[in-house]
This record gives sequence, C-alpha cells and structure tokens, in this order.
Amino acid sequence: MLHNIVLMGPPGAGKGTLAKQLKTAYNLTHISTGDMFREAIKEGTELGKLAKSYLDSGNLVPDEVTIGLVKERLAKPDCESGFLLDGFPRTLGQAKALKELSKEINRPVEVVVNLDCDNDELVRRISGRRVCKNCGAPYHIESMKPKVEGVCDLCGGPLYQRKDDNEEALKVRLHHYVVDTKPLLDFYEEEGLLKNFNSLQGSQHLFDEVSAFLKK
Ligand code: AMP
Repeated sequence: MLHNIVLMGPPGAGKGTLAKQLKTAYNLTHISTGDMFREAIKEGTELGKLAKSYLDSGNLVPDEVTIGLVKERLAKPDCESGFLLDGFPRTLGQAKALKELSKEINRPVEVVVNLDCDNDELVRRISGRRVCKNCGAPYHIESMKPKVEGVCDLCGGPLYQRKDDNEEALKVRLHHYVVDTKPLLDFYEEEGLLKNFNSLQGSQHLFDEVSAFLKK
C-alpha cells in the first residue's frame, strides 16, 4: 500500500472529500494547508492575520510561509504512518521544496493522485458547498446533504459557506490553479509519480478506484 500521498486537482474537484475517506479507511494523516490557514484565522494567530487577506481574495499565501508550515507539520510523529497532502504543493517552488524536505525526513512522496473535473461542474460544486465549522467535513446543498439541515453528521457542528466560495474569489482561485498549479502535473509526470483519476464519477466510485490503486 502507498502511504505518502499528494492529492491534486482544481478547487472543487473533491480533494477534501477523498482525503477524509482515505484518512478514515487507512489511518493516514490528512494535511490540508487550507484547513491549517482557516484554523489560524479562527484562532487569530500571527499566521492567521498574515493569511487572511490571501484566503479571502482567493490568492496564494506566499511560498516561504506555506513551505515553513508544511515542513513543521510533516516532521511530526503522526506522519510516520503515512500522510495525505491536500492543497499542497500549489506552486513549482513548493513542489521542489517538498521533494527536498520529504527526502530529509525520509518520507518521500510515493504517488500524486490528480483529480480531473470540468469547469462547469467545479462551479456547481463550489457554489453549493457547505463546510462544518468544527471539523471541516464537506457537504453540498444538493448532492451531499447532511441528515439535518445545517448540522454536521460527524460532529454536530454548524455548517457554513466558505468566504472564498463566491464567484469573484473562485475566478481568482481557478486562475491560480491554471497558472501556478497545473504546471506541477508535468513536473510530477516527469518524476514518474502522477496518477490521474476522473472525479466526475461520484465520490464512492472515486474512493474505490483510488483505494484499489493505492493497494496495488
Ligand atoms: P483550499 O482549502 O485548499 O481551497 O485553500 C484555501 C486557500 O488557502 C487558498 O485559496 C489559498 O489562499 C490558501 N492556500 C491553501 N494552500 C495553499 C498553498 N499550498 N499555497 C498557497 N496558498 C494556499
């Protein structure tokens, strides 16, 4: 089984949902840089103050900040049994830094799972997305409803719409995806790590397919 995994794909492709399924099934440590920034903003830390305007507008937090954060996180003992990086790397600088630092700690990335999704579907998913304020679990107002409206099935926390899940910020996020992040697919293809999956097939199917691949 492959344990050290990078999840890639545009915003709304389903990285967060897949990460939660894989984490539960295989006891992997889920590292979402977006969740880490949102947590820091909620707690009002220095990192949160710095990151807030970038997140609200859909822009990328500078590389040196993001790389430092991931470096610290990957060195923690809970990553020894495997990690799922979700939303990192997003730039070539981050990908190169990850290559170095994962070598340093002897936990090299074993596979990059890339989720393909078309633009119309991304917009539909993002505009209907709701997230649990407590645990970050993702929902959708039509296709992934909670059992009780506005309440998380997993922890009972309140659901909310992310501030950057609006049309304007989404445009900026998709732009960054195309300009800064998509070129990483070539980088990982050359490294022999890239594996593509179609995320239009529904979350359970996708999970089954990715699981079968990871277990090979
Ligand atoms: P996400 O939850 O992955 O959609 O990330 C939400 C926001 O957090 C992004 O739009 C960026 O502002 C910031 N962010 C998350 N991950 C990164 C990263 N690897 N590099 C720079 N900014 C990031």
